Amino acid sequence: MSFLLPCPNCGPRDVGEFAYAGETTARPQGSPSPRELASYIHFRRNTAGVQREWWYHRFGCELWFLAERDTRTNEVLKTELPSPDAAGTPAPREPAIPDTPAV
Ligand SMILES: [Zn+2]
Repeated sequence: MSFLLPCPNCGPRDVGEFAYAGETTARPQGSPSPRELASYIHFRRNTAGVQREWWYHRFGCELWFLAERDTRTNEVLKTELPSPDAAGTPAPREPAIPDTPAV
């Protein structure tokens, strides 16, 4: 399945130009219990609907950005640059292996 994903820097492009890096997660604060840490590392919400995700424009400007996408229809509602102080949403330092295939 193919769809257009608007890069905040380049505009709408085919999704094949991008790498999906998973839904956003919130890092546990303080001293998390082993259960909280395991949940953070291994479990995802896997939303059937609109979810907030990390994307990387690997065959374009190499920008990391956030997108709100409906996982049922692949409709992209919004893309934006991450804010530097966004709690729980640190930008990955290098391309991550996606949790699930993008297409
Ligand atoms: Zn781009």
